[in-house]
Amino acid sequence: MTHDYDVIVVGGGPVGGWTARNIAKAGLKVAVIEEHMKVGEPVQCAGIITPRVFDMVEFADKSILNEVKGANIYSPAGNKLTIGTEKVQAKIIDRTKFDSLIMDSAMNEGAELITGNRVTGLVMGEHCEVTVGDKTLKSKLIIGADGAKSNVRSWLGLEEPAYYLNGFGADIEGVKIPHDKVNVFFGSQLAPNFFAWMIPAGDIVRVGLCMREGQDTVYHYFKKLFEGGSASAPLLEGSQVAKTYAGIIPLGLPTKTYADRGMIVGDAASHVKATSGGGIYPGLVCAQHCAQTAIEALEADDTSEKMLANYQKAWLKDIGDELKKDIMIHKVFASLTDEQIEDVFNMVSDEETLAVINKVGDIDYPSRLGWMLLKREPKLLKYAGKFLRYGLRGR
Ligand SMILES: Cc1cc2nc3c(=O)[nH]c(=O)nc-3n(C[C@H](O)[C@H](O)[C@H](O)COP(=O)(O)OP(=O)(O)OC[C@H]3O[C@@H](n4cnc5c(N)ncnc54)[C@H](O)[C@@H]3O)c2cc1C
Repeated sequence: MTHDYDVIVVGGGPVGGWTARNIAKAGLKVAVIEEHMKVGEPVQCAGIITPRVFDMVEFADKSILNEVKGANIYSPAGNKLTIGTEKVQAKIIDRTKFDSLIMDSAMNEGAELITGNRVTGLVMGEHCEVTVGDKTLKSKLIIGADGAKSNVRSWLGLEEPAYYLNGFGADIEGVKIPHDKVNVFFGSQLAPNFFAWMIPAGDIVRVGLCMREGQDTVYHYFKKLFEGGSASAPLLEGSQVAKTYAGIIPLGLPTKTYADRGMIVGDAASHVKATSGGGIYPGLVCAQHCAQTAIEALEADDTSEKMLANYQKAWLKDIGDELKKDIMIHKVFASLTDEQIEDVFNMVSDEETLAVINKVGDIDYPSRLGWMLLKREPKLLKYAGKFLRYGLRGR
């Protein structure tokens, strides 16, 4: 039987690019199909990632715009808590450049990139028949790295995310914050059930927020960040919006990320930290497992569901536990009233607790800090009951 490719990856985001790069490196024939003309555009991301990402994709350091060493965190009442050390905690990237660098590395390994073409159908028979415009491409395996609203996920009959967060952000000039710290705002007045951010990214500051509510409501709250009386408004006084963007974040891990001859990865599989909405680090970690399983399956000439189940086992073992805990932490947080968030703030604001936060805090593994804080401050246990309840309820 003839195939055009061993593997077709749908979606040329960072996760699709990294998956393709790892498969192509093993000498297999891979195509990435991206609907947009240019990889990395349009940007729908605040672009904050940890140094850990660059341990995986070292060459992507050319996309770094800024480094931050801590955060100013504002409570619902506007009280400020400053955390951080002399160590770089996070790096701010140019997402278009980051995605392009990853895709370039995939192409250098031999992957073929087809841009400006949307995949509109998939028929599974003896092989995967992928409809792209008026063409049908055949492959032994298909990988859906096609983002939060993944079509490949539904064509493979896999579960939707449990729910989505809606995000709205802007690149803003003239914001008055130091360039080595991000600012984060909590509370129902500014960002109910999630948080708002200000991220210094070189010449501009990225300002935005996410919420469970719909896009119109998110935009309404975005405008509130500029209104007097809020902790954010004085920092935004006299600033100019240069560019805006909106996007969605999928939450709730699917029970299956594989089927016969197919796998999903990245946002398509809700590989996202629910505490921050960050999907780049977990997506890239899972991309490596996805690529490894694809290579082993093709070497063994076995692309059955049973074989591809190894992918799910691998990412669950690596990062699944943390992603599940993050969802529980997010749900507990989203259920708190402003008074309760203020209460938590007060419990963690003493010098010793801040020292623990600075030592253990890790954006990629927030549950580690959660446990340390619970051990230190038993009063926090009154919120831990909810954590267990949400855990038992599942996604
Ligand atoms: C407002 C906001 C802020 C964020 N900030 C951060 C942050 O600071 N840090 C962080 O780590 N994460 C952040 N994220 C999340 C991050 O952007 C995603 O997790 C990440 O982009 C996921 O990468 P991906 O490759 O899985 O999917 P995507 O980047 O969504 O890429 C999927 C690609 O598939 C293409 N595609 C889709 N369907 C088809 C089709 N049928 N045919 C062909 N191509 C198709 C799309 O055009 C797209 O290019 C943010 C998200 C939002 C919405």
